[in-house]
Amino acid sequence: MKALTGSNYHRKLTHRAFLGLGSNIGDREKNLKTALSLLEGAELRIMKTSSLYHTEPVGELNQPWFMNAVVEVETTLSPEQLMHRCQQIEEKMGRNHLIPQGPRMIDLDILMYDQLTVETSSLTIPHPRMHCRRFVLIPLLEIAPDAIHSRLKKSIRELLQDIPDSSAVKRVKRKW
Ligand code: ADP
Ligand code: MG
Repeated sequence: MKALTGSNYHRKLTHRAFLGLGSNIGDREKNLKTALSLLEGAELRIMKTSSLYHTEPVGELNQPWFMNAVVEVETTLSPEQLMHRCQQIEEKMGRNHLIPQGPRMIDLDILMYDQLTVETSSLTIPHPRMHCRRFVLIPLLEIAPDAIHSRLKKSIRELLQDIPDSSAVKRVKRKW
C-alpha cells in the first residue's frame, strides 16, 4: 500500500469547515484547549485559530461570561460525522444539557462546512444563529472575513455590518 505522506496526505483532507467553541464553567481557556486537542487527529486538522475572546452571554443572561474562539479546520469527516465528533467531545467534557444556551463546560458548533447548506432535524449548516452573534462573527472576521454564508450569500464582514446584537466581545489574547 502506498503511504499517505506529503501531498497525498494533504489531498485527503478535502473539506474546509469553521467551528465555534465556547465555555463558561471551570477553567474556560483550558476547556477550549482540551476540546481542540480532542478534535485534532488523522481525520481533522486545525488550520487557523482566532484570538481568545471574553464575551457577554446572549439569550440566557443570568450566567457567567464565556470564553469563545473559532477555528478553521480541514477534515475528511462528513458534516454528520463532524457533528457526532463534536457531541462526543461535549459529552466527554461533561456538558450540561439541561438549559439550552445555558452554562456549559464546552459548546462546539459547526458554523460552516464548505459552501454546504444542510437542514435536517438535528443539524443546520450554516449554524442557525451564527449570523446574529457577535461572539461568533468577530472571531470569524479575524480568520475568514471574506468567507461567504451559503444561505444568506453574504460575507462575514457584511453580516457584521447588519447585526442587531450589541453584546460585549472583548479580545483577550492572540496566542493561547
Ligand atoms: P447553541 O449552540 O446555539 O448555543 P445549543 O448548543 O444548546 O445551542 O444547541 C444544541 C443543539 O443544536 C443540538 O442539539 C444540535 O443538534 C443542534 N444543532 C443544529 N445545528 C447545529 C450545528 N451546525 N452545530 C451545532 N449544533 C447544531
Ligand atoms: Mg451548540
